[in-house]
Amino acid sequence: MWRVTASGLAAVATAALLLAAPARQTENVVLITTDGLRWQEVFSGAEEALLVKDAGVSDPDALRKEFWRDSAAARREALLPFLWTVLAKQGQLFGNAAQGRVARVTNGHNFSYPGYNELLSGRADPRIDSNDKKPNPNVTVLEWLNGREPYRGRVAAFCSWDVFPWILNRERSGIVVNAGFEPMTFAGDRDRLAVLNQVLTDTTPAADGVRHDSLTYAATLEYVRAARPRVVYISYGETDDWAHAGRYDHYLHSAQRFDRFTRQLWDAMQGIDQYRGKTTFVITTDHGRGSGLTGWKSHGEKIPESENIWIGVLGPDTPALGESTPATAVTQSQVAPTVAAALGENFAQAVPGVAAPIAGAVRPAAGSPEVRLDRARLLELLGRTPPAPPPLAPKRVETVDLGDVVREKVTYAVEADERVPAFVFIPKGTGPFPAVLCHHQHGGEFHVGKDGPAGLGSTPDQHYALELARRGYVTIAPDALAFGERQDPTGKLKKGEYERFEALHRITEGKSLQGKYVWDARRALDYLETRTEVDRARIGMIGHSLGGQETLFTTAADTRIQAAVSSCGFASLRVLERDHILHNFALFVPGLAEAGDYGAVLALIAPRPFLVAARSQDPIFPLDGIEETVATGRAAFAAAGASDRLDTFYEPGPHQFSPAMREAAYAWLDRWLKAPKRERAATSRARPAPPGGRRSGPSRPRTR
Ligand SMILES: [Zn+2]
Repeated sequence: MWRVTASGLAAVATAALLLAAPARQTENVVLITTDGLRWQEVFSGAEEALLVKDAGVSDPDALRKEFWRDSAAARREALLPFLWTVLAKQGQLFGNAAQGRVARVTNGHNFSYPGYNELLSGRADPRIDSNDKKPNPNVTVLEWLNGREPYRGRVAAFCSWDVFPWILNRERSGIVVNAGFEPMTFAGDRDRLAVLNQVLTDTTPAADGVRHDSLTYAATLEYVRAARPRVVYISYGETDDWAHAGRYDHYLHSAQRFDRFTRQLWDAMQGIDQYRGKTTFVITTDHGRGSGLTGWKSHGEKIPESENIWIGVLGPDTPALGESTPATAVTQSQVAPTVAAALGENFAQAVPGVAAPIAGAVRPAAGSPEVRLDRARLLELLGRTPPAPPPLAPKRVETVDLGDVVREKVTYAVEADERVPAFVFIPKGTGPFPAVLCHHQHGGEFHVGKDGPAGLGSTPDQHYALELARRGYVTIAPDALAFGERQDPTGKLKKGEYERFEALHRITEGKSLQGKYVWDARRALDYLETRTEVDRARIGMIGHSLGGQETLFTTAADTRIQAAVSSCGFASLRVLERDHILHNFALFVPGLAEAGDYGAVLALIAPRPFLVAARSQDPIFPLDGIEETVATGRAAFAAAGASDRLDTFYEPGPHQFSPAMREAAYAWLDRWLKAPKRERAATSRARPAPPGGRRSGPSRPRTR
C-alpha cells in the first residue's frame, strides 16, 4: 500500500513542484539609492516636529498642507506615493524599525563611502573609513556582473555624487559611470544630450561635488532608451545635502522627487519590450540619520541610530509581502547579493565574505537547489531503505483505561526482524477521529522516548500525545531508534553513544539516521491507517525539538499527513554552520546543504497546512536561520496559492514547547483536521560631520 501511495503521489508531487516553481522572469535589474533618506520618513511620512521654521522650513503652513496627514499610512503615501501604492503592494519593503523589522548598516560608520561599498560589494570593509576619492579595492556586484555574460558591457551607473567613479572603481571595473558634473558622453539622442550638457555646464552646484538629481535622472533615462543596459545603478544625492543644510522642506521635496523619478523610470521601462515584466527594482539608502530638531540633520558613528536604513524590492520574482516581511533584521550588505539573486546569479557564493541575499526577497532561480529538490530527490538524500516495508503485524500488549481516554501499548514491524513499541491513545465517544503522530523530543533523554508525549515521563510540556487525545484525537507516540526501549539491545553502548553508532554506520551503507527516522515514522502512519477509529483523511503530525525536526522531514516525505506543527525543530544548515551549533546526528542529512537546505524541505510541504512554532532566544535554533527557512517555504506556499497554510508562532524565551505554543499548535491542528473537509478546502484561498580627514576633499565642506 505504501508503494502504491508513493507512486500515486509522485504525480501530485510533480504538479506541486510545477506550481511551486513558476518560471523566473527577471532579466534586468535596477538598483536605486537616495542618499541618507531616513526610515522614519519612509514608513511614517513627514515628521510633525520638523514641519517648523526651526527645521529650515520657509513656509511651514504650506509644507504641512502638502505632507501632513493624520495617519502615518496617509502621510507616507503623500510623500512617497510610488513606494506605498506600488512597491509596498506588489513587492517587499524592509526596515520599519518601529515594528522591529530592522534594516541596518553593519560597517559601523554610518556615512556614505562605507555605506555604498557595503551595499554594492556585499560586505562592510574596515579599510573604507572616509569619503576620500580612493579606488575601491572591493569588487562591486556591478563589476562582478559586468565580467559575466550576458551582462558584459551592459552595466551602467548614473550618480549625482562625484566620488562614484572611485567607489565603482571605474578604471578597473570597466562599467559605464557618469557622475557629478561630468559631461554626458554616453549613447543617447544627440540633440537631447546636447541640451542636457548645456544645462549641466550652466548650473551652479547646490552642494559641492553633487549634481542635481534631476540631471542624474535625465541622464539615466536617456541611456536606458538608447543603450538598453541589463543592470543599472542610479544614485541620487539631494536628500542628504538638504538634510545637512538643515532644510526639511527641500529634504521632503527631494524625497518626493526621488519617488517620482522611480515611478517614471518604472513606467518608461514597462513600455520597452526588453524590460516589460522582466525588470526588478531594488531601492535603498547608504545610511540613516539622527532624530529630533538637530539630530535629523546628521549621521555617523556618534549617532548609532543612523545605522537604521530601509530596503525595497519590486519585480516579477518578488512575492508581494509588502511590509509583512520576516521580523528578522536585514543588513545593508545583503543588497548586492539580492541584486544578483534577482538575476538568478549567486554573488554570495562567488565572492568570499559576501552576505546572503535577503531571504525570500526574490524567488530562487530555475534549476537552483531549492527548486530542484522534489520528494523523490529528498528520499534519495535520506539514503537507502529496505525495498519494501514488511507486514506490520501489529500486537496490542497493554490496555489502560485513563477515564477520559484509553491508552494502549502496541508493537508493530518497521523492518524485517525489527519491531517498534508505541503508545496509542483512543478517545472515548463515537469515531472516526482525526489522528496525530506525536514524535518525542531528544533532550538527551534517551531513557524517556515515547514516555514523554504519553505523559509518563519528561516534563509536562512534552505530554502532547496525551493532551491531544483528550482533545479528541487518536494519537500515537513510538520510540525513535536509540530512545526508550530502542536503546542498544546489547547494552554495550550507552545513551548518545548508541545514537552515534546508529548514525555513523548508516553513513557507510549509503543510508542516514534521518532516513531511518522517517522510515519508522511512516510505519507509524501505516499503523494509524489500520485503526478503525481513525479517519484516514485527517492525519496530522506534531513534535518538539527532535520531534519538530522529524515532523518537518516526515511531512515533506509523506503526503498522508494533512496538517502538522513543528516546535523548535529546525533552522537553516547555513546558520547552524555559521554559529558553530552542534545538533543530533539525524539533523545532518548528507547533501542537504547543496540541495536547498531546510527551506527546500519545508517547500515540499506546500500546500498542506504547516505551523512553525519557535522561540526567539532558542540557543540551538537562531531565529534568522528559522526565518531563512520559512522564507523559502513561504515562496512555495504562495506559488501554490496557499499562503494562509504556512504560519509561524514566535514568542520570546529559550528552547521549550510552552503552554502558549502548545495551545497555538493544538488550535492549528483543530482548524485543519477537525473542520469538515469541504470547509477546509474553502478556507485555503483566502553623522555629525566626521573628523576633517574623512571629508571627501578640500572642495567638499560636508560629509555625506
Ligand atoms: Zn550625509
